[in-house]
Formats: sequence, C-alpha cells, structure tokens
Amino acid sequence: MTLLRLTDRGLYCDAGDFHVDPWAAVDRAVVTHAHGDHLAWGCRSYLTSADGVGVAQQRLGGEASVRGLEYGEAIDVSGVRVSLHPAGHILGSAQVRLEHRGEVWVVSGDYKTDADPTCRAFEPVGCHTFVTESTFGLPVYRWPPQAEVLHDVNLWWRANQQAGRTTLLYGYALGKAQRLLAGLDPSIGPILTHGAVERMNAAYRAAGVPLPPTTHAVAMDRADRGRAIVLAPPSADGSTWVRRFGEHATGFASGWMLIRGTRRRRSLDRGFPLSDHVDWPSLMAAIDATGATRVLVTHGYTGPVVRWLRERGVDAEAVATRFEGERDDAALPEGAEAE
Ligand SMILES: [Zn+2]
Ligand SMILES: [Zn+2]
Repeated sequence: MTLLRLTDRGLYCDAGDFHVDPWAAVDRAVVTHAHGDHLAWGCRSYLTSADGVGVAQQRLGGEASVRGLEYGEAIDVSGVRVSLHPAGHILGSAQVRLEHRGEVWVVSGDYKTDADPTCRAFEPVGCHTFVTESTFGLPVYRWPPQAEVLHDVNLWWRANQQAGRTTLLYGYALGKAQRLLAGLDPSIGPILTHGAVERMNAAYRAAGVPLPPTTHAVAMDRADRGRAIVLAPPSADGSTWVRRFGEHATGFASGWMLIRGTRRRRSLDRGFPLSDHVDWPSLMAAIDATGATRVLVTHGYTGPVVRWLRERGVDAEAVATRFEGERDDAALPEGAEAE
C-alpha cells in the first residue's frame, strides 16, 4: 500500500487528505520547515512544528493559518496518525511521521545530524518507508568538523579587521545566518545584519533561541566600517547595498563551498563549507537508522543515491520534485534586496 503519492502539487496522502510540503496552494499542508522549496504560499491551513510557527508565520504573513504541533505529539487526521520529529536542519524543522493501518512512513524534509545550537537535534525515527532528501548525496561531500569551520570564520573576521576591511559573510537568511551568528565571537566587534536576516533573527529570539546582539545595517555607525562583520543573504553580493561598508572582504558559508570552483565562479574571497544538510556518510547512517525497507529519494542527487542503495539491496526509488537542492535565497520576498 502507499501512504503518499506524487501529484502535480507534490506528495499527497489520500487517506488523510493532506499534502506534505506541497509546491502550490492546497487545502491542508503539513510542512517540514519554512524554506521556500518546502513552504508554499496560499494554502488554506498549515501544520508545522510548534518551534517553527514563528518563522513560518514570518514567511507567510500574519493572516496565514498556521497550527503548531509539539515534537513527538501525535494527532489524528482522518484516521492517519501524524506526528513531527526534530530534523536538526533549522529552527522548527521536522520529519513527518505518518501511520495508517500499521504502515509507517517518514518524510525527512531537509535534515542534518551535526550539532546546531539554534535548533533541536535530529532524532532517527523507525519506519517502513523513508522519504529522504539528497541535497549533498554524493560521496565527495564530507563535512569538515563544523566547530573548526566556525573558528576559521572568526579568525578571518579578525584578520579583515586588522587590515581595516569590513567582513561580509553570506548565508541563507533563514537558518544558516542564525547558525553562523551563534558561532561568532561577539568580543571581536559589532555584528550587523541585512534586513532579511534581521527579521529571521527576531523570529528565532521570539522562539527562545539565544543569539548574540545584532544591529540592522541601516543603523550602522560609520565607526563600524572596517571593524564589523555583516551577515547577509548571498543575493546581496555585488549589489549597491554593500557599498555602504567601504573596503570589504566577502565570504559565503554553504556546503557547496566544499567544491573549489564554486567560490571562484562567484568571485568570493573565502568559502566556508558549513552545511545544514547531511553529508554522504551521515546520509547513509541516517537511512540505516530508520530500518526502512523502502527508501524514496528526493531533493538533490536522487540518481546516485538510488543506485548506491539498490546495489546494497535496498528497495529505492527517486521521487521527482520541482526543486533541485536548497533555493532559499531565491525565495526572498520582493524588495528584500534593497534593504
Ligand atoms: Zn531547507
Ligand atoms: Zn530544501
């Protein structure tokens, strides 16, 4: 039997009459997290983790009907038992567990198993069918220890300061920016933010996540030039918005920075391989830990992951998606660039 099937709006549960991470407006959406490739505008109702309500509401606007469910708490949706479990990706990110007539499916959404002080740690959930993301599903992706990467960011900031340059650090406005912020050493200097980042910081603080103090870049003191670090989405790079910072160095924190050409193509000074997704070994370990006999692979390198699993005797299949990997920066609201 099948608990979820692919429709033109994404994964749909017939028994419970709801979609999981639909691509377009539907009546009932169960949402793993608030990134643009998982959270569609215009749905009649949203169910997401209690931790994630604030960020989802920030993205969707105050009028959207967003219901929060505590991690581990189960509700009945037309006979389907639905519960959400921490995915460790960003604040509020959840794996969706569905149980119907003894059959258990888990949809991972995006996830990572590395520690992150800004969200609840990933928990493996046993199931028959596991729907997994595969953003970095190639053996070449192996993350260096993330504490070392954050240490390097602080060293780079200090070195820029000594050279009289402002430090511009790019990362996705929701999730990555807050994780970077939590890893910065505020004793080095002032921390400034782009408006898109500052709005999400507010949602994180409102949810009780402790973050160092930040100042919206529009309120920058001229004396901060050459001393401050600025957190901004990658789309700000090369825009007129960065001119106010004077002489500056640019860096981008992303799993993609592990591949050398990516940084050069974007002509950045530094790339920091910090990812909110599992790398290859963690992806394989996470799949194993579910005990699933069937694995559906989506969002990323579906082909290589499916082949690898099949060679090891796992019943694996790719699930099409409208999105390839994380596209969070493309989902910024109109005008966000101008701030
Ligand atoms: Zn995501
Ligand atoms: Zn995603």
